[in-house]
Amino acid sequence: MDIGIDIGGTNMKVGLVDARGRVAARRRLATKASEGPGPALERLGRCIAGLRKGKRVKSIGVGIAGLVDHARGVVRIPPNLPGWDGTKVQEVLKHMTGLPVHCANDANAVTLGEWLYGAGRGCRNLFCLTLGSGVGGGAIVNNKLFLGANHAAGELGHTVIFGNGLVCRCGGRGCVERYAGADYIVRRARQRVKAAIKRARDHRNQIPMFKGIMDKKPGMLVEKFATRLSRLTMKDIGRAARAKDRLALKLVEETGYYLGLGLVNVVALYDPERIVIGGGVSGLGRPLMRAVRKTVFSRIQFFPGRRLEIVFGRLGNDAGIIGATRLGKHMPA
Ligand SMILES: [Zn+2]
Repeated sequence: MDIGIDIGGTNMKVGLVDARGRVAARRRLATKASEGPGPALERLGRCIAGLRKGKRVKSIGVGIAGLVDHARGVVRIPPNLPGWDGTKVQEVLKHMTGLPVHCANDANAVTLGEWLYGAGRGCRNLFCLTLGSGVGGGAIVNNKLFLGANHAAGELGHTVIFGNGLVCRCGGRGCVERYAGADYIVRRARQRVKAAIKRARDHRNQIPMFKGIMDKKPGMLVEKFATRLSRLTMKDIGRAARAKDRLALKLVEETGYYLGLGLVNVVALYDPERIVIGGGVSGLGRPLMRAVRKTVFSRIQFFPGRRLEIVFGRLGNDAGIIGATRLGKHMPA
């Protein structure tokens, strides 16, 4: 048994993973990122102690939302974990538990999980995209996790799709994440709902005699969130899209388009045989996949016999903890 940990801006997931990559037990803790790394790592330590009781645990693997120095297990500039810059996660957890500890960027852990046990099995060249509040990526190149000179390779979220685009939280402009990250999708959704309400109101004021025109339903998102916009989340957008709400579908389609543009660049650079869209994709499902595929396949260089498929991950939210437990074995030295 090994313990896999996935540290995100909101939650920390901890799992006991067996030799065949199955999760035998899982826990979820609040990260409370604003309190800094100290209390969070202490909570983690207690959680690990509980999970280990009566089990033979060999090692700990940790995926962290941010750049991670794999060799030293130190976190670098994590946008969703304020105050964690420079935190020696490896050293602290090793000291607490006495076990070997391996750390990596969370998207790399997801990539490893999907490659070894999920939708990427058997691939020699694979790219895995993770979609959450951040947009992450990881690459398997020639059967190895590809890390780059600074352990910063595969950062799909900060590849540029609009040269003069909106300012991203990384400081750059026109990044994929600025358009397809969950926070930004939700922000766009709220703006659209607001605009729809305003349109309906203007309409009613202008032409009260043509009642029939506004009989068209305003749609699920507008109806449900008109009076409580701040409650609208990614899950609601996914739910509404599955129920074929027009506004939600449009948002999901746009997201697929932006991600697709990023992936066109990935295909040109890495030439993977499979792209896995992993992580908890917030239930955006088929409409997202349709838009991603449409964008990618209409834009990549096509030649007879080109191998490329785009699929959803199979491990869902467990991918990160499962993959983290295999970092020790699969991380290049
Ligand atoms: Zn960026």
